[in-house]
Amino acid sequence: MQNNEEIIILGGGQAAVYAAKEIRNHNKDSNLTIISEEDTLAYERPPLSKDYLTNKRKLQDFMFFPDEFYLENNINFIKNKKIVDVNFENKTLTSFSNDKFVYDKLLIATGSVNKTINFQINNDKYKTLYLRNNIDSEILKENLIKSNTVLIVGGGFIGLEIASSANELGKAVHVIEMGKQLMGRSIPKNISNHCKIVHESKGNNIYLNTTIKDIIPKQSNCKVTLSNNKVIEVDLIIVGIGSIPNTELFSQKKIEINNGIKTNEFCETSQKNVYAAGDISNFFHPFYKKNIRLESYQHAQNHGICAGRNIIGIKDSYNNTPWMWSDQLDINIQSMGLYDEFDQVIQRGTSLEDGIIEFFMKKDLIVGACGIGLKGKIGKDIKLAIRILEKKLRVDKDLIENKNFKLSHLLKKV
Ligand SMILES: Cc1cc2nc3c(=O)[nH]c(=O)nc-3n(C[C@H](O)[C@H](O)[C@H](O)COP(=O)(O)OP(=O)(O)OC[C@H]3O[C@@H](n4cnc5c(N)ncnc54)[C@H](O)[C@@H]3O)c2cc1C
Repeated sequence: MQNNEEIIILGGGQAAVYAAKEIRNHNKDSNLTIISEEDTLAYERPPLSKDYLTNKRKLQDFMFFPDEFYLENNINFIKNKKIVDVNFENKTLTSFSNDKFVYDKLLIATGSVNKTINFQINNDKYKTLYLRNNIDSEILKENLIKSNTVLIVGGGFIGLEIASSANELGKAVHVIEMGKQLMGRSIPKNISNHCKIVHESKGNNIYLNTTIKDIIPKQSNCKVTLSNNKVIEVDLIIVGIGSIPNTELFSQKKIEINNGIKTNEFCETSQKNVYAAGDISNFFHPFYKKNIRLESYQHAQNHGICAGRNIIGIKDSYNNTPWMWSDQLDINIQSMGLYDEFDQVIQRGTSLEDGIIEFFMKKDLIVGACGIGLKGKIGKDIKLAIRILEKKLRVDKDLIENKNFKLSHLLKKV
């Protein structure tokens, strides 16, 4: 890598700042710029649906790095700058305010955008709300304070975390999900059923296989008729129906896109000197031998780090095991690996108090696991399962099933 090379990171989220940190760990000479459309330095998104909504934490409590970090590491973090064009031939980026940036190496880390529904009732008074950034969360918080009853459209992670926060704030909560289970895109049915029971036990109303039939704005709230013909009056409608990779900027460009920007195991896109990391990337995973796209905290961070290394010429293959978590009410859900191809499921634990984990097995190898339990009850076993998976240890199903058997013993034998 030459001195004074221009490295530009497009997007100012988790993948972006961890890539920048890794670049500076090894290279002090390049000119390093992060361009973000947001008006703040990078912060963690998970608290936006949890402790930030319930006023337990402030934005300043979960910034990834303070101002001094960027200063000391000579990282030029440009805020409030939306890039509207990327030209791969000239290696330039153009902002909405018509500034031009020239790069030698470019990392695309533009994350995801929410899927939306166009409700006819949207107007100044009844705007349905979404959650992606700190401003959305602030607006949501203000509206939650004024509301008694909320309707959440979408029973995925974010919808259910908002349902959990609203419940904690003492609101009456209704969640509708068009699918036949909660978090259907991400977790197995059995774990999802336990989660539903917990929400219901705390008073949240969950309707599966349900959509909105009709919404009538009234004087101070909305009358909503559901597809199951139930009628509810709600003060606030929040939509959390999933997200898509933020590829709009590149739809007419010569870069391979398929459910995100395609990258190889080195975070390289089909364009020379252009890399992608985090939610935006559909990356090749050497362990699973296929491309996957993840929307998770741990992945954004590690993928960003891997991209940073490859950008400065350290050839590093990305082989991290997928892992993610969700906190809802008093429970924690964790998922690791993938479980789209398996020949057996083994359950460990039978109660939320002890933790319940389903292990997905293929020919005696763990390929994925998902668990639910009271906070602190499943994390250790999930972490051990990741190590067992990564070491490709063949395991005895009876041992995994037995809650009295410590999974750490399997690793000691190696
Ligand atoms: C509310 C919420 C709760 C979550 N909770 C969890 C959780 O509990 N557990 C978990 O594992 N994961 C969770 N996640 C997911 C996790 O936060 C994301 O996977 C992670 O933030 C992705 O990081 P990223 O850097 O790829 O993208 P992002 O963090 O989305 O960053 C992308 C950045 O690029 C900027 N950008 C996009 N286009 C442009 C442009 N044209 N010009 C300039 N800037 C641009 C965006 O504004 C944004 O700042 C949550 C996400 C959200 C939104």
